[in-house]
Amino acid sequence: MRPVELTTRWLPRGVDGITLWPFIFYRRGYEQNVPLRCHEHYHWRHALRWGVIPWYLAYLALRLFYLSQPADQHPLEAPAYAKQREVQALLDAGRSIDDQLAELGMV
Ligand SMILES: [Zn+2]
Repeated sequence: MRPVELTTRWLPRGVDGITLWPFIFYRRGYEQNVPLRCHEHYHWRHALRWGVIPWYLAYLALRLFYLSQPADQHPLEAPAYAKQREVQALLDAGRSIDDQLAELGMV
């Protein structure tokens, strides 16, 4: 099972990608951003593991407590940002991201 990835120009300001299970929407021009795609695929798989509705309920409930915090402090965002940074660091170093892509079911 894989996400349906779509590109749109209609995302809120500051949002370049969003996972609305079973879809992942990317701001036009960001659909080839591999670290961002890894971030969104992380969310997509996380929601699948938890159950989609429980994941979104937990996400929204936690969001209330982290409104004034940087986005990567939200407990369900932190691991997605960590994966995004890990992939970006590997790409910057010219190293393979095959393991990350496989882990996220992207290959
Ligand atoms: Zn995220």
